[in-house]
Order: sequence, then structure tokens, then C-alpha cells
Amino acid sequence: AKDEGRNGFRYYSEELTARAFERVLLESSLHRALERDEFELFYQPQLDLVSGELRGLEALVRWRHPEMGLVPPDKFIPLAEESGIIVAMGEWILERACTQMRSWQHAGVIDEAVLISVNLSPKQFDQHALSEMVDGTLSRTGLAPAGLELEITESTMMRSIERTGHVLGALRELGVKVAIDDFGTGYSSLAHLKRLPLTKLKIDKSFVSDIPGDLNDVAIAKAIIALASSLSLEVLAEGVETREQQDFLTREGCHTGQGYLFSRPLEVAALERFLLTLHRL
Ligand code: C2E
Ligand code: CA
Ligand code: CA
Ligand code: CA
Repeated sequence: AKDEGRNGFRYYSEELTARAFERVLLESSLHRALERDEFELFYQPQLDLVSGELRGLEALVRWRHPEMGLVPPDKFIPLAEESGIIVAMGEWILERACTQMRSWQHAGVIDEAVLISVNLSPKQFDQHALSEMVDGTLSRTGLAPAGLELEITESTMMRSIERTGHVLGALRELGVKVAIDDFGTGYSSLAHLKRLPLTKLKIDKSFVSDIPGDLNDVAIAKAIIALASSLSLEVLAEGVETREQQDFLTREGCHTGQGYLFSRPLEVAALERFLLTLHRL
């Protein structure tokens, strides 16, 4: 049994080494991918659940890998965060999203009232000069600050309330909007929510997927909608996949949503085709 244990240990440590090696490889390939322009943004429409009008687009990054094809973000964002590459990547993402939005506005295919939502990683949020970076990107791309919404998660926001207040204050001063992503999955204190200059709560899709059947999720979704309303925040539901969910949300007062029922995240050409069909939804 002892020997087995040793073997087991040796096996485990060999596996660890292999994993560490893989990580180093992946890290350097993330760097190269950024240099070679292999990242790409997809856009998921956010719609008014009553009128069907376009309200926003969420930018979601993918890696167009020369051999592996299209790699989803959960396969590389965590590592990009650990290694810090997410900061450079995040700047690229913001710039790309703003540039794309501006070009759609110029072409007249998207109204200036439609928001572009960009996800911010906690590492980016910790960057000393975040608001300067955002300001610079807006100036370079010519996008109006009010057209940009940054998404941060509840856990990012709740780590240090002092610092969060400061950073959000600086962003809001620019005129940029701030949404709390995956709302309901963390532990926001109501006092803090009230104090922070937020503009929107995004109901996490885990609370949307089983409504109206699951009574716990129904209660949570309703509570978030009521909370948003009492704090004068906008509210948007993620992961809307069925007509029943859409009807429930509309009835309960959540009038914006995104999800496969309307559209998956789309690459630029497909999004442009989607825009043409919008009035038929
Ligand atoms: P997220 O910000 O919560 O994004 C929503 C995710 O839900 C997206 O996955 C989207 O494709 C998926 N989704 C949308 N509608 C539905 C639906 O109706 N049903 C279901 N089951 N899923 C739906 P995606 O694109 O794979 O992104 C996963 C996560 O990766 C994102 O979660 C976000 O945390 C991260 N991520 C994506 N793009 C970026 C980025 O540009 N920067 C950063 N920092 N993180 C990103
Ligand atoms: Ca998001
Ligand atoms: Ca989310
Ligand atoms: Ca999520």
C-alpha cells in the first residue's frame, strides 16, 4: 500500500509538471495570439422584451485559433487573468468594441441610443489608470461615453468598497454606464448597492433558466427586479431561452433581456444580418 502511495504521488507530480508545462505554453500562445490579432469579438443583442427593439450589444471575446478553430472564453480568460495578459487583452477588447460600434453608427445600421456592453475583468478593475484608459479609448474611437456600458461582477465590486466607489465614481464622471454582471450569485450588501453609482443589474442566467417552474428562482428573479426598481437601476435578464421566461420577466417588470431565444452571440457579418431581421421578432 505504501508503494502504491508513492507511485500515486509520483504520478500526481508528473501530471502537475505536465500541467504547468501546458500552462506556460498556453500563456505564451496567448501573447502571440494578441500580437497576431487572433482574438475576435462576437456581439449578443440585448432587446426590449416588450417592443423587440434593440437596446444594446454585449461584446464577447473568442479566440480564432489557427488549428483549434473558435475557442470560447472560458478556455482562456481564466488563464489570461492569472497571468495578467487580461489587462492588454481587455484594452484591445474595449478598443475593438468601441471602434466597431462607432462604425455601425456611422453606417446608420445602429442607433446612437443603443449601448455597447464590455466585460471588465477584476484585474482590469484593479488597474491604477482604468478611467484614463477608458477615456483615451473613447477619445480615439469617437464613441460617446453614454454609449458605453462596462460590466463588472458582484464579486469584483464587493472586494473593497472604498476602492470600488472611487473607481466607479471616476468612470461615471466620464459619462460611462456600469452594470453589475451575474447579479445574485455574489453577496452584495444593500447598503453598498445603494451607495455605489451603478446603472444596471444583470440577473444571472442561472436564475432565469428555470423560471417560471422553479419557485426559488422565481422568488430570486422577482426580488432582484424589485431591488433594481427601488434603487432606480435598470434591470436586464441574461440567458432568456423561452417564450415563457420572456413573458414572466415582462410581467414582473424586467423589460430588457438577452439570450438564445433572440440570438446567440454573433460575429460581425451575422450580427449585421440579424439587424435586418429585427422587426420580425
Ligand atoms: P458573461 O459575461 O456572463 O456572458 C454571458 C455568457 O452567457 C456568454 O458566454 C453567452 O454566450 C452566454 N449566453 C448568452 N445567452 C445565453 C442563453 O440564452 N443561454 C445560455 N445557456 N447561455 C447564454 P460566453 O460568450 O462563452 O462567455 C463566457 C464568459 O466569459 C462571460 O460570461 C464572461 O465572464 C467571460 N467573457 C467573455 N468575453 C469577455 C471579455 O471580453 N472580457 C472578459 N473579461 N471576460 C469575458
Ligand atoms: Ca457579461
Ligand atoms: Ca453574466
Ligand atoms: Ca457568467
